[in-house]
Amino acid sequence: MNKQTIKIPAELKIAAKQAYLNAYAPYSKFHVGAAALTTSGTIVQGCNVENASYGLTVCAERNCISHAVIKGEQSFQMIVIYTEQERMTPPCGACRQVIAEFFEQSAPVIAFNHKDQQQVWSVAELLPDAFTPKDLLDI
Ligand SMILES: [Zn+2]
Repeated sequence: MNKQTIKIPAELKIAAKQAYLNAYAPYSKFHVGAAALTTSGTIVQGCNVENASYGLTVCAERNCISHAVIKGEQSFQMIVIYTEQERMTPPCGACRQVIAEFFEQSAPVIAFNHKDQQQVWSVAELLPDAFTPKDLLDI
């Protein structure tokens, strides 16, 4: 993966921005939109959904992946994360684990913002030596 040349498909950017607008973040005010491109070419969206019981909050990335699974999609090409922050927003630790479950280790995870700046990581960079379904094969 050459990170310098990765271009986010326009439809994926639009989908992430649309999801961002639906974020439910009355407590943190930290709105996040995500969109993933499945292996079959479908785009799925997610936004963060907070709760008055803070620990029940679910991030945009995990909602996005769950949305895909509900639609019968379990394999992905890439995921993008949109925020209106100066610093690119990487997935949190919990989301990194869920991304590692469904994405190839080399798959790009791309954060971009309202200034159209972007940062690209591979899944392996975000969660090296991830615990994955392969680790359960010996059980
Ligand atoms: Zn997260």
